[in-house]
Amino acid sequence: MKVEYTNQEYIRGCIKACEKRKHLQQVAFSTFHDCLTQVCFTCNICMTSLPFTQQVKMKKNQSLKGFEELKKECSKKGDEDEN
Ligand SMILES: [Zn+2]
Repeated sequence: MKVEYTNQEYIRGCIKACEKRKHLQQVAFSTFHDCLTQVCFTCNICMTSLPFTQQVKMKKNQSLKGFEELKKECSKKGDEDEN
């Protein structure tokens, strides 16, 4: 499963996009870190809004994927499911 570091707005958008496609997903929110995490088993992706300092440390080895790109992926997979 791929892990993406992004902001909460992006993740909220992704959660809605996945909900629309009836993806199998779980969402958690940490009040301590003010961090929203979405795990979508259909997209095989984990989106998290870790604090920026933590993100920078972890981003070194990973690329940040934009919301539009992810949304496209979600739609693709959703369409496949419907067919
Ligand atoms: Zn999904």
